[in-house]
This record gives sequence, C-alpha cells and structure tokens, in this order.
Amino acid sequence: MPKKLKLIYHIAALRAALEEVKKDCSIGFVPTMGALHAGHLSLIEKSKQENGLTICSIFVNQKQFNNESDFEKYPITIEHDLSLLAEIGCDIVFMPSHQEVYPLDDVEKFYDLGAIESVLEGRYRPGHFQGVCMVMHKLLEMVQPTILYLGKKDYQQCKVIQKMMTLEGLDKKIQVSLVATKRATNGLALSSRNLRLSEQALSKASILYQCLKETKEKIVASSDCHFELLASEAKNKMIENGFDSVDYYSFVNDAFEPIDKASTPNQSIVILTAATIEGVRLIDNIII
Ligand code: AMP
Repeated sequence: MPKKLKLIYHIAALRAALEEVKKDCSIGFVPTMGALHAGHLSLIEKSKQENGLTICSIFVNQKQFNNESDFEKYPITIEHDLSLLAEIGCDIVFMPSHQEVYPLDDVEKFYDLGAIESVLEGRYRPGHFQGVCMVMHKLLEMVQPTILYLGKKDYQQCKVIQKMMTLEGLDKKIQVSLVATKRATNGLALSSRNLRLSEQALSKASILYQCLKETKEKIVASSDCHFELLASEAKNKMIENGFDSVDYYSFVNDAFEPIDKASTPNQSIVILTAATIEGVRLIDNIII
C-alpha cells in the first residue's frame, strides 16, 4: 500500500496502480473539483476509516458548467489541495486532463434521469446533471471503487448519481456512502465557491442555514404547515439579510417529488435552497 500521496495523471497509470492493490483491500473514492476544504476532507477521512486505499480525484468538469463564466471563475488551488491531501494521508490523487476524460473520439452519452433532471438545480442549470453523470460514469469505470463517497451538501446530485448508477448497473458493484454537510461555525455550508465571497458576505450567508433550521423546526412542531407559506417567509428573510436573489426554496419527498405539505406522517422531507449573494450562487439543504 502506498505510504505517501501518489500523484497520477493518466488512466493507464491509475489502472496499473490499482491492479496491485485491488486484490488485497477495498478502495474508497472521493471525486472532487479541487479547491479542497474541510468538507472534502471529511469524505476522505471517512473513506480512510472504511477502506484500505483512498483515492481522491481532482477534475474541474467543464461539461457540468452550464455557464461559461462560472467555469472560468472556478477556483484552482492545486498546490494547497495536494498539501492537504498529503497531510490527511490520502493514498492517491488522480488528476486527469480534459482530453484524458473526454478523448476526441468520445461519443456523448445521454442518461434518462427522468423528472429529477429538470427540477430545482436542473431547472436553473440546464444540462448540468447530464455533465455530472458523464464525468461520474467515466470516473467510476476508471477507478472501480468499492465505496463511492458523496457529500449531502449536493443532495440532488447524490440522487442523480445514484440514478445513473442504477441505469448503468453500477449500483450492484459499488456502494455509495452519503456524508453529512460540513459547516463553518456560523452554519454556512463549506463550499469552494465561498472563496469568492467577502468577509461580510460570508457572515450574511449564514442566514441560508438559519432559515432551513427554522423551517425544519416549524414543520417538526406542527403537522399542519403550508410549505408555500414557509418558503415565502424564508425567501423574504434571505433577501432582507443580504441575498440578491433566491432561485428556489423547495420541499421534496423521498422520491424527490416536490410536495406542498407534510401529507404522510413520518415521511422524510428534504428542504433545498439556492440563492445568490455577491454574484455567487450557493446551495444548501436540510433533511427532516
Ligand atoms: P466538489 O468539489 O464541489 O465537486 O465536491 C466534491 C464532493 O465533496 C461532493 O460529493 C460534494 O458533495 C462534497 N462536498 C462539498 N462540500 C461539502 C461540505 N461542506 N460537506 C460535505 N461534503 C461536501
């Protein structure tokens, strides 16, 4: 087993490195787009606890950016990322080029994801989830991990990736572990995008999670809540506290279907929101 962080750039080298260890130990995989923070590291920690070998990939996947300038502004902090990964004891970091993942003769695949693709993030970022599935499908085929680690912070993305895995039969070969969202002390979900926010905005943005917690408390306290009303209260509060706009503040059930009231007792409800502050779009969610 490698003792220090091994840097791999090519699929052939990845295969060779994994061939050696595959027979002896389980492989935990943490795909990322870099600009690593404590949220990413919590996934790596979990993988290290549960597997003999942990691989983190760093690949800023252009195909999942529906907005060109968002892609161009995506923070790249590779030296810092590598030192964090070495420090935490990650075994392998896989950093393929665009060409390595999407060779010129690559045929774009379409994933029939159903309704989940066109609601919430899917509605505001057309094509985003197809891009996520394309890269995740390829990375999973390359790494063939025992367990894939995903952050609940991107809850809809978790559901989309799990759907793609079912469509492609990968769910039978790879387990998925969903990891709790890591937050700053003020409750703001850690995100690479936070790097683009001023100190003032970082402080104001904590209202996002405060609203989610308050809404959850109201739903837990009363079985007769009207979600539309709760959503409009929360949206107003976010705008009053410095957000420029709120794309959505929505409630979904287990099947990721939008719901407007808690109809079935004990059903799990997820509240998801996306809002923009200082031109930076943040997402968060809470599970009830
Ligand atoms: P990204 O680099 O943004 O593509 O994220 C890579 C992985 O880290 C995804 O599975 C994310 O859901 C997860 N992640 C990002 N931020 C957090 C966080 N604050 N807490 C836990 N997981 C996170």
